[in-house]
Amino acid sequence: MPDEELTEVQEPEEKGKEQPEEKAPDILISGLDMRRLVELDACTRCGECLNWCPVYDQDSREDIIPRKKVTDFLKIIKSQQGVLSHIMKDQKLPAPLRKLIGAIFRYKEIGPSEVKDFVKNLYECSTCGQCHIVCPANIETVQLWEDIRRLIVDAGYGPLKPQKALVKSVKAYDNPWQQPRAGRTKWARRAKKEKLINDLPREIKKTGGKILLFLGCTAAYDINVKQVAVSTLNILEMLGVDYGILGKDEKCCGSVLLRMGDQEFERLASENIKTFNELGITTLISSCAGCFKTIKQDYPKVGRLNFEVLHTVQFLRRLLEEKKLKFITPIEKIVTYHDPCHLGRATGVFDDPRIIMDAIPGLELVEMPRNREYSRCCGAGGGLKSGYPDIQNKMAQRRVKEAEETGAEELVSACPFCFQGLQVGITATNSDLVMRDITFLVETALKEKE
Ligand code: SF4
Ligand code: SF4
Repeated sequence: MPDEELTEVQEPEEKGKEQPEEKAPDILISGLDMRRLVELDACTRCGECLNWCPVYDQDSREDIIPRKKVTDFLKIIKSQQGVLSHIMKDQKLPAPLRKLIGAIFRYKEIGPSEVKDFVKNLYECSTCGQCHIVCPANIETVQLWEDIRRLIVDAGYGPLKPQKALVKSVKAYDNPWQQPRAGRTKWARRAKKEKLINDLPREIKKTGGKILLFLGCTAAYDINVKQVAVSTLNILEMLGVDYGILGKDEKCCGSVLLRMGDQEFERLASENIKTFNELGITTLISSCAGCFKTIKQDYPKVGRLNFEVLHTVQFLRRLLEEKKLKFITPIEKIVTYHDPCHLGRATGVFDDPRIIMDAIPGLELVEMPRNREYSRCCGAGGGLKSGYPDIQNKMAQRRVKEAEETGAEELVSACPFCFQGLQVGITATNSDLVMRDITFLVETALKEKE
């Protein structure tokens, strides 16, 4: 397969596999832990999340907002598993009696088509976490949506058809882009040929290094985003860091599976944890906000990590403070910074990229009105880009407009996924903004001016 333009892979039409209309498979609410169950009852329906949701901004349907999702989910559960539902399903009771009880207690049976509508709404969400930040009831909405998605997948309703292709690809090829495993290192050979890097990256299994650079699928496979891998590698080389990569043995972090609700995530995470621990590394670094969040926050729920996990910006900030990172070439540019949801809101890494950019001579950072924990999501995550590409496109355009209004020349982020997502908006609006990953700025400022 060519690695030129990675587009979302589509699931072929499945014929004859639709759920029968007469019976909706039960969604097992017992799969939710106590906190989630309490949260289902905690929503006060205040609607604050509605004012901030970047998806609702582009598709103003009541059905997709958090309070409605919670209400609809509860209706399904009550219909399938409430005491009344058991009475209504009890065939030993005469039908007229069941009908009467149903009328008295206003019982409403929820059929498969209504469940499917709910599922479509549930997946029309980038799991950006903005609703959690603004929620006065402090509901952990992203965790709630992901847990409900897991129940939905277990009951056979999810994910959506276009998202299934990504999930299948991760299971079959260890990457969501339907690319062969051997192609994972192709970017490096190509980058060396184009003189973007001096040497092919060292494989950690051969060197026994203490720092593992985890590249992630998007930087490794998407030719338009390989700059993130190239720049990260060049930075580590210039700074003389003893590091290695896994090469063709690197596997997807599994974020795609987790965000879509597929339980296979645990298998993939366990395998990766075993591989990382056996390497004897002290530190894992990643330039991908999605991989970073998944390995740092979600892996410890699956198994123990014998090493620290850092995003590249945290690693670089550390080197800056130890005076090992010194910028020699000014960058006379005005830039604005997009906080990736998985780096900012999810893991609280807001200062590190700003401190690094502040230290680059000549560089001027202007903030967008929505920054840090209020950063407007570009729509690339949570399966939204594959399930609802038009919505993602509009979300990216909205963010690009906000970036343009700052007067910046370049739009900087710290995630290959955001790079891909925001580039969609730049292209769609014919914007003059140049998309950059922060690693590119660091690399440029570290090098002698050519
Ligand atoms: S996680 Fe983001 S996209 Fe999803 S409902 Fe909350 S604010 Fe909207
Ligand atoms: S902000 Fe929180 S409490 Fe208010 S409607 Fe949204 S989820 Fe419910």
